[in-house]
Amino acid sequence: MTEVRNWAGNHRYGATAIRRPATLDQVREVVASAAHVHALGSRHSFNDGADSAGVLISLENLAPDIVVDSRAATVSVSGGTTYGVLAEALNRQGFALHNLASLPHISVAGAIATATHGSGNRNGNLATAVRALQLVTSGGDLLTVSRADTPDFAGMVVGLGALGVVTRVTLDIQPAFEVRQDVFDNLPWARVLERFDEVSASAYSVSLFTDWRGDTVGQAWLKSRTDAGARFEGRPEFFGGTAATSDRHPLPGVSAENCTKQLGVPGPWSDRLAHFRMGFTPSSGDELQSEYLLPGEHAVAAIEVMRDLAGQISPLLQVSEIRTVAADDLWLSPNYGRAGIGLHLTWKPEAEAVQNLLPLIEARLAPFAARPHWGKLFHAEAATLAPLYEKLPDFRALAARLDPEWKFRNDFLDRTVFGV
Ligand SMILES: Cc1cc2nc3c(=O)[nH]c(=O)nc-3n(C[C@H](O)[C@H](O)[C@H](O)COP(=O)(O)OP(=O)(O)OC[C@H]3O[C@@H](n4cnc5c(N)ncnc54)[C@H](O)[C@@H]3O)c2cc1C
Repeated sequence: MTEVRNWAGNHRYGATAIRRPATLDQVREVVASAAHVHALGSRHSFNDGADSAGVLISLENLAPDIVVDSRAATVSVSGGTTYGVLAEALNRQGFALHNLASLPHISVAGAIATATHGSGNRNGNLATAVRALQLVTSGGDLLTVSRADTPDFAGMVVGLGALGVVTRVTLDIQPAFEVRQDVFDNLPWARVLERFDEVSASAYSVSLFTDWRGDTVGQAWLKSRTDAGARFEGRPEFFGGTAATSDRHPLPGVSAENCTKQLGVPGPWSDRLAHFRMGFTPSSGDELQSEYLLPGEHAVAAIEVMRDLAGQISPLLQVSEIRTVAADDLWLSPNYGRAGIGLHLTWKPEAEAVQNLLPLIEARLAPFAARPHWGKLFHAEAATLAPLYEKLPDFRALAARLDPEWKFRNDFLDRTVFGV
């Protein structure tokens, strides 16, 4: 296979071939005839989670086939469709998703497979919107499962590609809404930590950007719905931070051109809930990422740990983001059974130094039962992760049932989920 790498370039896929079927029947044939196969999304994960010892199967050539059912308040879409394409189509028809990640470039099936999330105390991760899935299982058979009718559905959504190739996804939708985005600079840590719950509850979605050094949080991004009951009035000050007077990029000194509009200008949800715009490079483009999700009651103590580690973290860091995510019941979701915060790190592209630092960060966050983001870099393996996921034995049993020949298993799954 010619060299194919993930978006960040830090992982070179070891698979023997990439297949890009254009029809559902071709997807079924590829899966049925392969000894080892794994689904590949838009390649935005930072680890080997989407790799295979056999073939990779990408759904990018399948038509999005976006079908809105306004009575059921759902949209169904081909799994390889990006959130950017889906969001625009939905908005045009007067509908919205509850949230987006920081970037719209990722595929729907790839994002839900790793429990990708945005921010907001009341917003579950993107996988929580999944109402039904269509999967091609290891024999090439079609399996349709739904929240309403399938007993193990909660185990199937954040599936890490271990259960089959997700060819269609049905998501909850709601009427389209408008969002305004306001950014504030330099919030004193003391004020933020004293009233962290109030800070994170201040808007529909709140993100804090920091390098952990010094006495202030670099930026706070507030995304506020402008529909009734959720109005956010612009203000010059926010917990000691001052309102930005021009659009900001989370990374100091980087042009805000690739960011969604700020300065309190209302706009469609599809143009505001992500930080980065479709058609532009998200984030810095030359980076690695890690993230740890932990229960809300430990938010302040965990932030203090990260600030304490600033001397080790900051030399390798571009920026960190603190977000909140609501609790859910999806077995492998880092927010299974608990609402909490995500401590995200955008690293400089120094893979070895970052990998060497992760064990220290994970050890210091271990008392807070921190669970790593499945799509980013982390050090922990199955023995460490198993006690953090009470439904992991059930997930292993589900995978054994749906994939008895271990077709979808890969090194990542063996290392982090199955403990081989
Ligand atoms: C710049 C940048 C910003 C990011 N921002 C955020 C953020 O705001 N929030 C957040 O939570 N994460 C974020 N991420 C991480 C990213 O959202 C996740 O890694 C996500 O899983 C990537 O989706 P993908 O489509 O690229 O899937 P891939 O990385 O290609 O694959 C990820 C996993 O999904 C599985 N998969 C893909 N397609 C299918 C399918 N059809 N059926 C079954 N399984 C499938 C793969 O097998 C693999 O296990 C960011 C990443 C980047 C590069």
